[in-house]
Amino acid sequence: MKMKHNNETSDSDGLLLVISAPSGTGKSTLISMLKKDFPDFKFSVSYTTRSPRPGEVHGQDYFFVSKDEFLRLKEKNFFAEYALVHNHYYGTPRETTLKALEQGQNLIFDIDVQGAMQLKQNMGLGCYVFIFPPSFKALEERLLKRGTDDPETIARRLENAKNEINQSHFFDYWLVNDDLHQAYSELRSIVVAEKLRPCFMRKRISVINNQDF
Ligand code: ADP
Ligand code: 5GP
Repeated sequence: MKMKHNNETSDSDGLLLVISAPSGTGKSTLISMLKKDFPDFKFSVSYTTRSPRPGEVHGQDYFFVSKDEFLRLKEKNFFAEYALVHNHYYGTPRETTLKALEQGQNLIFDIDVQGAMQLKQNMGLGCYVFIFPPSFKALEERLLKRGTDDPETIARRLENAKNEINQSHFFDYWLVNDDLHQAYSELRSIVVAEKLRPCFMRKRISVINNQDF
């Protein structure tokens, strides 16, 4: 199976939509709004070595695996990209991802900056969106309010946020999640515009081209 996934040359492949943001920015919130609005988009389910949070479902939010299992899969070249994020491994399965895209499935990826850079290199094109928090103070407040992480984890996530923001330059779009509805409306506009690129419109336009005047 080919590794490069090139939206420019295929008229039926799905859209590869990558969304990265420092933890606590509101990425999951925005992605769940997107999934409701665009039922034809599927969420790419990653593998991780971190423990499930309350309410998280194996196979739906993540595939939760041991570190040994993750490293075994990594050795077998199972991942299209992987990274060590906040002391846990996270990775995107290669085969299921390629198969889904080649079948025309639109996919949303919630992955960190290191993974997004690898995916861009390995898969060819796609749409890469980076979401900024309105401030570091707001980010800290959101992590505290979410209540899923202990103080040490929150401190690590905030430190990591600075590094991620420093690497945000290679993304195609930048959003600030200050007012949630404004940020969602902007994210929605990006998705609508991406779907109007010629590579996704070819089938529809060929029908028009084949009509007699
Ligand atoms: P991420 O997936 O980026 O780690 P979450 O979506 O879990 O972040 O959001 C972190 C917390 O911030 C949640 O409690 C969420 O309800 C809240 N949140 C998300 N967006 C906003 C916003 N625009 N304004 C205020 N709070 C927000
Ligand atoms: P969380 O533990 O809060 O669910 O996710 C922590 C970070 O890991 C987030 O920045 C998220 O985007 C990132 N992440 C989740 N899945 C993957 C993945 O498959 N690959 C990479 N590189 N990062 C991931």
